[in-house]
Amino acid sequence: MESSCDVIVIGAGLGGLRAARDLADQGHSVVVLEARDRVGGRGRTSHLDGRLVELGGSWFTPEHVQVKAELERYGQATRDFPTQLHARWRTAGELRRGLPVPWHELPSLERALVQVAADAAAYTAGTFTGADRSALEYIDALEPTPGVRDFLLGWWQLMGGAPPASGSVVDAIGPIASHDGLSGLVTCLAHGPAGGWSALAEALAADGISVELDAPVTAVHIADTATCTTADGRTWHARAVVIAVPVNCLPAITCTPGWPQPVAEAAGANAGAALKVLMLVRGIEPHGIAVGVGHGLHWWYADDAVDDVVRVTGFGWTTADFDPASRTDVERALHAFFPEGELLEFTHHDWVGDRHSLGTWLTAPAGRADLVNPARFAPFACAAFAGSDVAHEEAGWFEGALVSGAAAAAQIHTLLLG
Ligand SMILES: Cc1cc2nc3c(=O)[nH]c(=O)nc-3n(C[C@H](O)[C@H](O)[C@H](O)COP(=O)(O)OP(=O)(O)OC[C@H]3O[C@@H](n4cnc5c(N)ncnc54)[C@H](O)[C@@H]3O)c2cc1C
Repeated sequence: MESSCDVIVIGAGLGGLRAARDLADQGHSVVVLEARDRVGGRGRTSHLDGRLVELGGSWFTPEHVQVKAELERYGQATRDFPTQLHARWRTAGELRRGLPVPWHELPSLERALVQVAADAAAYTAGTFTGADRSALEYIDALEPTPGVRDFLLGWWQLMGGAPPASGSVVDAIGPIASHDGLSGLVTCLAHGPAGGWSALAEALAADGISVELDAPVTAVHIADTATCTTADGRTWHARAVVIAVPVNCLPAITCTPGWPQPVAEAAGANAGAALKVLMLVRGIEPHGIAVGVGHGLHWWYADDAVDDVVRVTGFGWTTADFDPASRTDVERALHAFFPEGELLEFTHHDWVGDRHSLGTWLTAPAGRADLVNPARFAPFACAAFAGSDVAHEEAGWFEGALVSGAAAAAQIHTLLLG
């Protein structure tokens, strides 16, 4: 079967959907080809005992004006997350409240934080020279005491989303600079869509565009016009194409006459390999965080309580010795930080094993941070790139996906007019 339209968009995450919707608003006929049986990509809402949980991304920050505008456009409410009321730490092998490290380690903590702040400022100024280091190499070069090392490793989880030996340190110090320090990284997790990210994606998908689900693109020919072939052998022709798949999914799409060299080099470069486990836990305090080195999950967010049952999110990295589908493993991870908690229900999605994401949020690989430079993904022939992995602003966030989708739509609109 053959079909034609003005623009094909490959991928129905927020990046692709935003590009498609903007192009449709400008009068172009658009078809979105989506590999999965749903829209939303790495945004996916689920429920635990009737309570909403996000298997992919959760939060947006006060600076994320594009997300806010999209929610308003579709009449969807924003949920404001309250300020955290308490924190606990698991450092140097002990669970602690109050100070994150033993008293005698405070000088080491102070020295480390001063250096991190200086490096974050240098990164913003473009004078930071250690971008090729992994987070682990960076942390160890600070010569931290054992508790400070665990504190920094736990904190890295929030920003990096890759094992510290494989993620570049820039994912830690970049956000520290842009969110006003280590604490700003928590307080910026301020909002979420009250109805979930899937509902926002579905609203975009229903806004004047045609979405083909279960249509993984296996090949594209990109020259003066574009042709896409899906796994079931269907062929789609268009005057232009927007490629809005995760960078780790690019190798599965054969491009003729070939991806531009900077793109081919970067395909598969996202080191993001986070684990996110959603839980219902009885008997712990709501509205707090827990950070450190535990058993598989190292950064915790205790959300709201209903009838003494708290929604909890735990983050870790994909490792061989922790199975997020195992109750025994998840209970052990929980009890390392919340020994008083009773695990009721839990769920997760394996974004790294999922062939339509092959990774989590964008994390630069250690030694090759340059591979995730958005300048590599410039428009070529009749094609433009979109998606949070290639965004010029707020890369790695939903906001970045929307920003990049709007930019790709503008590029293609200009091309079609010309
Ligand atoms: C666990 C986790 C936690 C996160 N936390 C946050 C957070 O709190 N806040 C935040 O802002 N962001 C967060 N993120 C990041 C956020 O989810 C992503 O930045 C955003 O969803 C990316 O949107 P996108 O459109 O660029 O890509 P995606 O959402 O990945 O969409 C790409 C689409 O392309 C499709 N596709 C892939 N290959 C093909 C193919 N060959 N043919 C057709 N379609 C294809 C995929 O199925 C997918 O639907 C998190 C992500 C994860 C995984």
